[in-house]
Amino acid sequence: MSLQEETLNFDPDALAKKYALERDKRVRADGNDQYQEVVGEFAYFVEDPYISEALKRDSMDDEVEVVIIGGGFGGMLAAARLREVGIDDFRIIEKGGDFGGTWYWNRYPGASCDIESYVYFPLLEKTGFVPKQKYTNAPETLEYCHKIAETFSLYDQALFQTEVTSTDWDEALGRWIVSTNRQDSIKARFVVHSNGPLNRPKLPAIKGISQFKGHTFHTSRWDYAYTGGDAHGDLTKLADKRVAIIGTGATAVQCVPHLGAAAKALYVFQRTPSSIDVRNNQPTDPDWMATQAPGWQEKRRLNFESLMTGIPVKEDLVSDGWTEAFRLLFGSLRSKAPSKARLALWAAQGLLSKALYQKGMKQYLTDRASEYMDLSKAMEIADFKKMEKVRARADAMVEDPATAESLKPYYRQFCKRPCFHDEYLPTFNRPNVTLVDTDGRGLDQITERGIVFDGTEYEVDCIIFATGFEVGTDYARRAGYQITGRDGVSISEKWSTGLSTFHGMHSRGFPNAFFFGPAQSAFTATYTYSLDENSQHLAHILGVAQEKGYTRIEASAAAEAAWVKTIIEKARLTADFQAQCTPGYYNNEGHVNVNPQNNTYGGGPIEFFALMKQWRKKGNLAGLEVA
Ligand code: NDP
Repeated sequence: MSLQEETLNFDPDALAKKYALERDKRVRADGNDQYQEVVGEFAYFVEDPYISEALKRDSMDDEVEVVIIGGGFGGMLAAARLREVGIDDFRIIEKGGDFGGTWYWNRYPGASCDIESYVYFPLLEKTGFVPKQKYTNAPETLEYCHKIAETFSLYDQALFQTEVTSTDWDEALGRWIVSTNRQDSIKARFVVHSNGPLNRPKLPAIKGISQFKGHTFHTSRWDYAYTGGDAHGDLTKLADKRVAIIGTGATAVQCVPHLGAAAKALYVFQRTPSSIDVRNNQPTDPDWMATQAPGWQEKRRLNFESLMTGIPVKEDLVSDGWTEAFRLLFGSLRSKAPSKARLALWAAQGLLSKALYQKGMKQYLTDRASEYMDLSKAMEIADFKKMEKVRARADAMVEDPATAESLKPYYRQFCKRPCFHDEYLPTFNRPNVTLVDTDGRGLDQITERGIVFDGTEYEVDCIIFATGFEVGTDYARRAGYQITGRDGVSISEKWSTGLSTFHGMHSRGFPNAFFFGPAQSAFTATYTYSLDENSQHLAHILGVAQEKGYTRIEASAAAEAAWVKTIIEKARLTADFQAQCTPGYYNNEGHVNVNPQNNTYGGGPIEFFALMKQWRKKGNLAGLEVA
């Protein structure tokens, strides 16, 4: 049946209008400035509640070949891949008390990863680890981080509970001087900045936020001493507490069921509802894992990420809510003639020549002439269908019709991180749980006693901020330290009018510094995939440098300018979609393309990885000036 003939049980025009209305309600002139930085009187929001004992050690004056900043997956992968090319003289500096990065900090009850663990956990074939379930949880992920650190003997080379305060390039020495809050001074020839894209918690800059006299914390620093329980839940100390949680993003969706089960009263303050699809977690079949052929993980993550980008694959190996959504968008798996959407996408990604594109298009139009529809319209209809299902799920699972209506997201599914959960929606059937829907406006005020919205003061004992992390702010502010390069120019100065890098990893004026994106490089749903690709790229460059005796590597002005141009041009591919989205960190809080170079690579991750692979294959470090 053609799309024109298909009877839709919704009115696409009415839905499009509703989406636009909901977006317009939420776009704010202040964009990222609506948030409060966690400094000064708010600095306690980023203190580490997970260390049992504060580390005591003397400051050190040291020299190594490579300093890696960040002990999350990115830093660990960098170290593991460096070891593979015979570079062992490195130090990893990490502000937390152990490895884990995001997973060290985000231990809130219910924390788990919604990307399949067989894809998400990097290096599974090297560590031999078997995740217990298709979708892992935070404790197991942290355990896996320890496993990687042990497998690659990283502990002896790590400095924990240590925050980098600055990195300064010393031209005469040809070294970076890395300074820390423990008065360390470490000289390094190369520095890898893997400080995490979502590492700095943010708070809403709401009137009265510092007035509240009760207890308060951010989800990424969960206070189990106050709530009781652990990452699996059982928050027994909340039995006599009235709790408010602000935010309903991917984090809140996972912890709200545990709060609802434990608190005397729970108020969930919502500005924009998340899209909540089916989770359907399953235990791992160890026999299945054991019988996978060597190279299976690379094949699986490539398959997953290809599907997520609309690239043709013969089968869907992961087969879950993510891939189903993308299959719906890009057409069913390899039909007789590729769908028009796919053809256009491959052409846009440079995967098809113009001639092949035209040939494929002709074939497609002949085969499916009756189905002809404007590409973006077809994708919009597929999205509407998917979101209608998501909205129907709210009606089916939430008893009170008004609450169910408030929990329905009215935007395209990938405007925000889609969520997958089977207990979140039913939590609103509990008598102790109240959804306070602010209809896109956000809270009005915080007082000594609680939260005010629409003239009602909700008195609570505790406010939990599930308000996410800084994304669009200054790089050094998010990293927590300044990077001062050649001629005393800081990275904040260099990037003040927009990002400028070569492949997202190098920036001219900052020799021997390596940035682990995602800006100007790949953005993947499986973030560890991108980090692993970064790490292999880094290891290649430093491997070549070691072999050829290069001690200094810097992007050439021409190569960097060309890359920035590419990023700007490719950003146009996603700009229209982003502009129609409800605000969030995916679209710079609704201020799309204010700086088009501040984007990830618009051609998608698979194309980006292929480009990097081609570049590495040449082996000549083209675009980098070496000495
Ligand atoms: P988000 O930025 O996604 O969500 C923040 C929430 O706070 C939003 O609901 C936002 O509303 C709300 N908010 C902000 N300001 C106000 C205000 N003034 N009044 C009321 N509400 C407000 O942060 P999360 O921590 O939820 O998630 C961050 C990212 O972490 C995810 O996108 C995902 O990438 C990752 N993550 C991944 C998981 C996984 O399974 N792999 C699980 C958890 C997180 P609004 O939407 O209107 O801006």
